[in-house]
Amino acid sequence: MYKKIFIATFLFLLMLSVPICSMAAPKPIEIYINGQKVESDVAPIIVNDRTLAPVRVISENLGAEVYWDNDNRQVQIITPSKTIILKIDDKRALVDGREVILDVPAKIVNDRTMVPLRFLGETLGAEVSWDNELRRVIINRTGAKIVDLAYEQVDGKPTVIIKGDSPLEYTVVATEGDRLVIDVVSHLDTLKNALYIYDSFLNKAVAGEIFTDPPTTRIVLELEDNVSYRTYSSADKKNIYISFENVLEELTFESQRDTFLAKILTTNATNANYFFLSNPDRLVLDISDTALPEIDVPEVPKNDFVKTVRLGQFTEDTVRIVFDLKSDVNYQVFQDGNAFSVIFSQVRTVEDINITSLDDKTMVEIMADDDIGYEVKADRNKRQIKVVMPAVAIGKNLIDRDVIKVSDGIVDNIELVKVKGDKNYNLEIIINLYSFNSYDVLSSPPSSNIALTLYKSSLINKLVVIDPGHGGTDPGAVVGNVKEKDLNLDLALRLRDLLEANGVKVIMTREDDTFVNLYARAGIANEVNADLFVSIHHNSATSTATGTETLYYPDPEKQLFAQALQNAVVRHTGFVNRGIVERPGIVVTRETKMPSALVEVGFLTNPNELATMLTDEFKQKFAEGLLQGIMDYLSGRSN
Ligand SMILES: [Zn+2]
Repeated sequence: MYKKIFIATFLFLLMLSVPICSMAAPKPIEIYINGQKVESDVAPIIVNDRTLAPVRVISENLGAEVYWDNDNRQVQIITPSKTIILKIDDKRALVDGREVILDVPAKIVNDRTMVPLRFLGETLGAEVSWDNELRRVIINRTGAKIVDLAYEQVDGKPTVIIKGDSPLEYTVVATEGDRLVIDVVSHLDTLKNALYIYDSFLNKAVAGEIFTDPPTTRIVLELEDNVSYRTYSSADKKNIYISFENVLEELTFESQRDTFLAKILTTNATNANYFFLSNPDRLVLDISDTALPEIDVPEVPKNDFVKTVRLGQFTEDTVRIVFDLKSDVNYQVFQDGNAFSVIFSQVRTVEDINITSLDDKTMVEIMADDDIGYEVKADRNKRQIKVVMPAVAIGKNLIDRDVIKVSDGIVDNIELVKVKGDKNYNLEIIINLYSFNSYDVLSSPPSSNIALTLYKSSLINKLVVIDPGHGGTDPGAVVGNVKEKDLNLDLALRLRDLLEANGVKVIMTREDDTFVNLYARAGIANEVNADLFVSIHHNSATSTATGTETLYYPDPEKQLFAQALQNAVVRHTGFVNRGIVERPGIVVTRETKMPSALVEVGFLTNPNELATMLTDEFKQKFAEGLLQGIMDYLSGRSN
């Protein structure tokens, strides 16, 4: 067995026991390797016109490792591409197992292992020459050296890096099957001559020096199936990169009876984003971190959903697939690892809408051809209830009925609107009401039979008298340049507009800045036989007094009405709830024959509250609160 020994140590031990006797020539022989003088404590010698030098010179300067076999008295010199065995005093050398006869054998001289320099230099691919005048051996290692092989991320891509000590020239020799062969004009000067990776791109890469003239190192990469790679050099050409990309490997179509399936395979799992574009309708699927090689795009088979499929490199690392759709197509995108599938199918349709009008409610039934998902959205301000159904189309029976007239006193009409959504067209069925009131949804999604009940508004045909407090010569409370009468009127007009929009008839005790007697205010309401009377005021007291309160004349119905208003406004504004307050002495609430109440919005004398009450946002919220309170009272809800 060979024993690995550090040659220097071995020689040092010999030197300790044996005195050195010199056989040096008049001028010692010098060794230059790649232009650098090599220092040697034992001078080279010439035997039969051949220079012998200490083996350490080889180990340190020609990129080889040296092993001494004491039992067999031989040295083994190993480089990435060659193994040379020299026996002491024996002309037969072995080069990669082949016998070679030397002019001069290796010798032990002055207790050093001296080896033939030219033989070794040339066997290791260097040029060796002799300068007789200078008594100098010149060894030049021609060409570049590969000093490392690595597998790292470069620009986000897994990459094999061939690192050189100087610019590397390379050629891609062959790409047979899944093998990639690259020849680099260089020595292989690293013992790390292979990479064993076994990921989804690369199994292994093995390098070996195949020629010495010119020095050529071959790197064979064993790739995974269908891996796409790119070879390029670094700017200084010292590195060669073989980078691997996630690529779109396969696109296939499958047409079945009720569906059309597109399958997409990429090398590695990655992300995709998809969206729907209209006019013309198309589905766009963007696959990230993927390159598009030359692949065969199959013809789109005959089907009811997809007209054509286009694909291209959308950005440097995004592949875009566009499916041009026929009308009203439903689709679903699935991902399973590195496989995407898109299933196209017929959209569900709404086949019919049944409307049943009763005295106090209208029932609307939406019938679909199968279970569909939907969402019910209410818009109080627009007096609308919307049923939004993603990826649903209008069926044959309804195709030309954009508006279904109802006019039953509860529902004005029903509109069918196709609206483009993010992922498809949505069908919106919009129920336009005369007045917004409560409704029930009797079905739950998904369902093929969506049922809603819309209740008649308690507001329809009601008559409400609104009384903005003070006016004209009577400003009410005054704080700075803010007069109570103006705020009262502002809020009253907002409430009037809201009530009228919901089908309520409204009479104002004043519509501008005029003085009206308190008894006259109550009288107006009694004269027209109003259903409700609301007086609007703002409070004043200390600067810390805060909140909303509602005053009423002691009467059960008036108290209920006051409570309904008070609850609704504090819920809308978040103001401090001072509750309802019985006040027998107030003229307008005492003299009115119908349910009546006087609302004190808040304190003008409280600077924070005043600032809030002056904002449009607050005024609108408060008016909406009063509207809600009126509805709650009329429909028998007072909490
Ligand atoms: Zn007042």
